[in-house]
Amino acid sequence: MTQDAACTESDVLVIGAGAAGLATAIFAARACPGLRVRCLDGARTLGAKILVSGGSRCNVTNRTVTERDFRGGSPRRIKAVLRAFPVDQTVAFFGELGVSLHEEAHGKLFPDSNRSRTVLEALLAECVRRKIDLQTSARVQAVRPDGQVFEVETADRIFRARAVVLATGGVALPKSGSDGFGYQLAARLGHTVVPPVPALVPLVLGTGPYAALSGVSHDVEVTVRDAGTTVRLRGALLWTHFGVSGPVILDASRHWLRAQQEARVASMSLNLLPGETPASVDAAMVAAAQAHPRGTLAGLLKSTLPGAVAEAWVSAEGLALSTPVSQVPRDQRKGLATRLTGTMLDVVGSRGFVQAEATAGGVSLDEVNPATMESVVCPGLYLVGEVLDVDGRLGGFNFQWAWSSGRVAGQALGRALAS
Ligand SMILES: Cc1cc2nc3c(=O)[nH]c(=O)nc-3n(C[C@H](O)[C@H](O)[C@H](O)COP(=O)(O)OP(=O)(O)OC[C@H]3O[C@@H](n4cnc5c(N)ncnc54)[C@H](O)[C@@H]3O)c2cc1C
Repeated sequence: MTQDAACTESDVLVIGAGAAGLATAIFAARACPGLRVRCLDGARTLGAKILVSGGSRCNVTNRTVTERDFRGGSPRRIKAVLRAFPVDQTVAFFGELGVSLHEEAHGKLFPDSNRSRTVLEALLAECVRRKIDLQTSARVQAVRPDGQVFEVETADRIFRARAVVLATGGVALPKSGSDGFGYQLAARLGHTVVPPVPALVPLVLGTGPYAALSGVSHDVEVTVRDAGTTVRLRGALLWTHFGVSGPVILDASRHWLRAQQEARVASMSLNLLPGETPASVDAAMVAAAQAHPRGTLAGLLKSTLPGAVAEAWVSAEGLALSTPVSQVPRDQRKGLATRLTGTMLDVVGSRGFVQAEATAGGVSLDEVNPATMESVVCPGLYLVGEVLDVDGRLGGFNFQWAWSSGRVAGQALGRALAS
């Protein structure tokens, strides 16, 4: 049952040949050799997002991945999908494709080549081996159920398939080809779309010393408070000319943006001394003043904060770094302790989908069977990857979601269409 390129019939038609679409196509073809699998992608060249990922090194997955690393849909459903194709199987899968992975800080797994192109080429080579028909510049404009099959329309052709997989991604980095049109396709087929907001995106500040600190990076604790929920994250923050970035901000961004999108009042505060409280910092200053009466604020803060950051926070309290800690008046000492451990960030927005690494929101996960990834509102339609309302934190989690959901769908398609 090899495919003729001119033929418009197939068993499985995958819309979108990103990480999730390629995984689905490969696992469907593996599960049922002979299955006619076709993948259509609107982009002129494939894999833009894989190529730029992880600073062009592709953070393929993480040593430890659980449902707690994700937001969006129900953790129980996310867990079921991750369990069906966990990290060790992902590592083995890439090993079979000739891509060995190594672990770096925070459990991140990268290809030994340190080139994302290795990952893309391995996936594409497997598609060729499995006789998957990959077509580029084939943007899907409509999907219509037609009895037992689907009609899938591009600008110049109508394809027919027994099952369709929506793997169109989210809205992050729209120039890669994922511009959110997949949501419209899903909605027209009866699905609910949780409004998308950027995730893993730098944040823009209205006021604050960010421009003067641009380029400075240091560890902080960020707290996002939003109508009764509190999310606390630790990690590196990078000051930029427009506001803040760095891993901890990227991870925090979706919480603030989701609250804003839902018209809830959210606040984001910064603790420059992670783990410390106003009381503990005040006590440390009192102790330092007693132990070293001539020791300055600069001396006290230099081991924990970059000089420029210490300067900005100390001067905001009306003090100078050269002031001996013992000479800081009590009120200002307490004020500085409070400021260092809890400064409100004046977030006014984000750098948007253009600079986001992921999308929070998408097709409701409740409308997909997690054992198969098949739609429960449109039988024969499967949904995988970022088009769904699932977003992972920084560290390889979003790709793991793509591989796992793709594997679940691929296997289920192989079983369902074997006959
Ligand atoms: C800069 C950047 C760096 C990243 N780094 C990492 C990382 O290191 N590790 C990690 O885990 N995650 C990373 N991510 C996130 C990760 O890349 C995505 O979560 C993942 O690629 C999503 O895969 P997907 O297949 O669901 O969607 P996508 O990769 O977005 O693929 C969707 C595909 O569908 C196609 N398409 C869309 N609409 C249509 C249509 N109507 N017709 C036909 N085709 C269509 C698009 O052209 C695209 O090729 C990064 C993201 C970005 C933007």
